[in-house]
Amino acid sequence: MPNKLKILLASPRGFCAGVDRAIDIVEKTLKKFGSPVYVRHEIVHNKQVVENLKKLGAIFVEELNEIKDNTRPVIFSAHGVPKSVPEEAENKKMFYIDATCPLVTKVHKESERHHRNGYQIILIGHKGHPEVIGTMGQLPKNSIKLIETESDANSLKADEFNKPMAYVTQTTLSVDDTKNIIKILKKKFPNIKSSIKEDICYATTNRQEAVKKIARDCNMFFVIGSENSSNSKRLVEVAKKSGCKDSELISDGQKVPIEKIKNCKVIGLSSGASAPEELVQNFILEIKKDIQVSVEEVITANEKVVFKLPKELN
Ligand code: SF4
Repeated sequence: MPNKLKILLASPRGFCAGVDRAIDIVEKTLKKFGSPVYVRHEIVHNKQVVENLKKLGAIFVEELNEIKDNTRPVIFSAHGVPKSVPEEAENKKMFYIDATCPLVTKVHKESERHHRNGYQIILIGHKGHPEVIGTMGQLPKNSIKLIETESDANSLKADEFNKPMAYVTQTTLSVDDTKNIIKILKKKFPNIKSSIKEDICYATTNRQEAVKKIARDCNMFFVIGSENSSNSKRLVEVAKKSGCKDSELISDGQKVPIEKIKNCKVIGLSSGASAPEELVQNFILEIKKDIQVSVEEVITANEKVVFKLPKELN
């Protein structure tokens, strides 16, 4: 084994408090109420997590009308749901437990507060992402206008809304890209209101900071995470923008690109908030089969956030 490779391991990486709580909710619901337990949408965006929970007796559906037995509990995913979903469950007299991350719920509450106070809301986020669908679904149609890019912000017209303005954001966006969009909004609408506390969550911010710190020293950067995981995809973008052009997402079941890694002296490694640590360690083990490796963990923050379980499980 002639090569010697250094792996810079970003920390924090992987599971955040919202993901830990959501998985715990499914496991504890199965324990307390037996199986099956239905889960609306992937509880978190990771195939391994979903497969493990299926083995314990969870059944995943996209909509409540796919549920065959309405007497069984149903759990709503960490990304949050539009108000119509709990309403539908109540109409059908279903027992539901909401695993929405408390930091997503915070954005829902901010949006409702702005709406009550008569503001037109701009949501910065990615069209079609379940969190965005959930946030937009907290309020009547047209109360929230979604924008995705700087160009969307630029094309908003100052007199488009005959109301005071406020903005909220998806929790898992790129911190830097979002700053630029907000700058444009503030220039256009100098009195635009923001949330009391930052909407991009601590986990997204910390994982991006850790990647930024090491990306420029790496020949290649790898992020373990699923294709549909917003925060994982943002980490790849952050690594590219921070100086490592050769940055890739390693999604579910994808092989370790060992031939490319063989040409590197240093690689960076991180994982999205919904990716189990086991996948990171397996990635390193695979490399070790062919290459001599030293691993250095670069810690940029210590996380101690823990969220309480919903009352139904206490
Ligand atoms: S990434 Fe942030 S908002 Fe999403 S579940 Fe984790 S802590 Fe909550």
